[in-house]
Amino acid sequence: MAGETFPNGTVNEAGHSRVVIVGAGFAGLAAARELGNTEIDVTVIDRRNHNLFQPLLYQVATAALSPADVSEPIRRTLGRYRNIKVMLAEVTGIDAAAKEVKLDYGSSVPYDRLVIATGSEYNYFGHEDWRAWAPGLKTIHEARLIRQRLLLAFEKAELSQDPEEKKALLTSVIIGGGPTGVEMAGAISELGRFMITRDFRKLEPDNMRVILIEAGPKILAAFPDNLVQYAMKVLEKEGVEVRTNLPVASVTKDEVIAGSERIRTGCIIWGAGVKASPAARWLGIEGKAGGRIPVEPDLSVTGLPDIFAIGDTALGLEDGKPLPALAQVAKQQGEYVGKALRLRLLEDKPSGPFRFHNRGNTAVIGRNTAIFDFGRWTLKGRFAWFLWALVHVYLLVNFEKRLLVSIQWIWRYLTRQRGARLIDENAASFVPSSTQRTET
Ligand SMILES: Cc1cc2nc3c(=O)[nH]c(=O)nc-3n(C[C@H](O)[C@H](O)[C@H](O)COP(=O)(O)OP(=O)(O)OC[C@H]3O[C@@H](n4cnc5c(N)ncnc54)[C@H](O)[C@@H]3O)c2cc1C
Repeated sequence: MAGETFPNGTVNEAGHSRVVIVGAGFAGLAAARELGNTEIDVTVIDRRNHNLFQPLLYQVATAALSPADVSEPIRRTLGRYRNIKVMLAEVTGIDAAAKEVKLDYGSSVPYDRLVIATGSEYNYFGHEDWRAWAPGLKTIHEARLIRQRLLLAFEKAELSQDPEEKKALLTSVIIGGGPTGVEMAGAISELGRFMITRDFRKLEPDNMRVILIEAGPKILAAFPDNLVQYAMKVLEKEGVEVRTNLPVASVTKDEVIAGSERIRTGCIIWGAGVKASPAARWLGIEGKAGGRIPVEPDLSVTGLPDIFAIGDTALGLEDGKPLPALAQVAKQQGEYVGKALRLRLLEDKPSGPFRFHNRGNTAVIGRNTAIFDFGRWTLKGRFAWFLWALVHVYLLVNFEKRLLVSIQWIWRYLTRQRGARLIDENAASFVPSSTQRTET
């Protein structure tokens, strides 16, 4: 095909259209796969060398899975496609006039078509200083940090001679009652009670507290009321204290102030809202609904037909309503854009508008319990958890991961064991330091 000019758009020296994809999450990877092994020159740029399966990250934070179980090197995933190059770099800007993506180390990458799939990040609503004490759950680093703080707090509590300090260290606070907050609360409660009963000698399960704080009137706001009521009951049974209508006023190293309550704690987790990546700023356009890039029905950026935005960073509409920031939306948008680019660049054919197919909104509540909302009907309990597990195993990036995670879940289901209860050396500074460390 060298030297041939494709019907639509400019080409590289070999005569191939150049597509650059920024971000190799659910959306970017799905787009890249659709363009794999075609006569299109594809470059995928990501600041991480791995693709991360965020829906299972809470299991890394609560020691059920290891980081490698939920991530895979991007080069490995895309290595089989001869026309795809992978670059490890942070994108810092886009020059839409020159059709170039700017990289952190001063270089730039030219494109004919650009796909922006840079996802979202946690929103601290102007309190950036809270981030240090209340990490969100978006990266492997954060999941390991939470795991570390959680496990160390229990170790410190075991050593503490002060009953009040013991109680504080055994108290975990989760801020934000969305699916991530609820999943974390249930999993921490299960992990903590299991560890105390089985492995610690000087701790009482009754002294452990898991507090889930939500500023709004209900948790799991996107779910119907019957599922929310069910989730509340399960959480209560698991020993989780749910506080709604309680905006947080202050977060420090070992204390959360919410309403009139001052809660001393050994571990704080943030799950209170996300905002889009700064990609709208790169394009000089105004982001909407948390900084998301408004897109047309074909997912091209309004006013910039050669640039597409997909996944969490895009604001797509369906029947006038914003599509949710979910993996299934991101994946479907990636597949759609990949196919649309193939049609346009190789066959000069247009594509119809993107349509989202809702496969059900889900959240895990406690040990082997989940809820599913399919729109017209709902599902809850153990069967919902099996369905959740099936779907999540299926969505994992390759067969090896599916097998590994399935085996670990079956083992954990039968034994309740958590195989990844590891604390890094030199991590003592992550927890309140009122307890003197002694050799055990
Ligand atoms: C804890 C948690 C649990 C979740 N559970 C569910 C669930 O059960 N079901 C569900 O449907 N959804 C779930 N979600 C939401 C889902 O993970 C997101 O909707 C999905 O990841 C969005 O995909 P994306 O491709 O847009 O972004 P991401 O998957 O976040 O990928 C973005 C990629 O862009 C890269 N990137 C960002 N900025 C730059 C830059 N400047 N330069 C280079 N690279 C960059 C990042 O490194 C990343 O690889 C969950 C999210 C979290 C955090």
